[in-house]
Amino acid sequence: MTSMAEELKELKQELRKKDLQIEELRKLATKDPLTGFYNRRGFEEEVGRLVKDIDFFKKNPATRKHFYIDSLSLLFFDIDDFKSVNDQYGHKAGDQVLQQISQIIRQKVRNIDIVGRWGGEELVAALVGSHEEDAFRKAEEIRKAIKSRVKINDREMTVSVGVSSLDESETFEELLKYADQAMYVAKKERGKNNTVRASELKK
Ligand code: GH3
Ligand code: MG
Ligand code: MG
Repeated sequence: MTSMAEELKELKQELRKKDLQIEELRKLATKDPLTGFYNRRGFEEEVGRLVKDIDFFKKNPATRKHFYIDSLSLLFFDIDDFKSVNDQYGHKAGDQVLQQISQIIRQKVRNIDIVGRWGGEELVAALVGSHEEDAFRKAEEIRKAIKSRVKINDREMTVSVGVSSLDESETFEELLKYADQAMYVAKKERGKNNTVRASELKK
């Protein structure tokens, strides 16, 4: 016969196991399997939280003690002419290009930075603490690395990039909107394979 204490112990162990399983599932639900990046939901959750904190401490400087991060920048990448890769070489080849490009982005940012897959061939990176100019330089470094390193047969793959930062935005939604608009300008007005800053957008 088991004692009350033993039963209680077993129950607690089971609960702990369930907690770990829930944590495991939560992680799966926020990650994109192809790239290993956060999916849209995970990225929004992680970066949204940071943006709120940074904005709060900016507006309430007296409450900050050990919080030194005063900015954050967002890089929004859209692969150029990606559909034609699928059309010419097949979906598997397209997947490999996506993986190669995401690996370069991961290698080029710091561990504390947060990377995500926003949509099909749209990748995002949140650079913690970075202002727009630093982020622009990083974006250019990544853009050039992709152009020189990612090829399919002899064709060079390129990306169009938009950069925004908390210098001109307050919320995650604004950051995203401006980075997306800047990417669109790179794509449509600068002939792709370009990086545009949110501060360059016509207001
Ligand atoms: P643009 O230069 O204007 O960005 O042109 P694009 O062809 O890159 O853009 P478009 O939006 O026309 O097409 C995006 C393509 O991305 C269409 C879709 O088949 C492909 N795609 C989206 N997700 C995946 C994926 O997970 N794997 C593969 N292989 N292709 C994907
Ligand atoms: Mg797209
Ligand atoms: Mg595209």
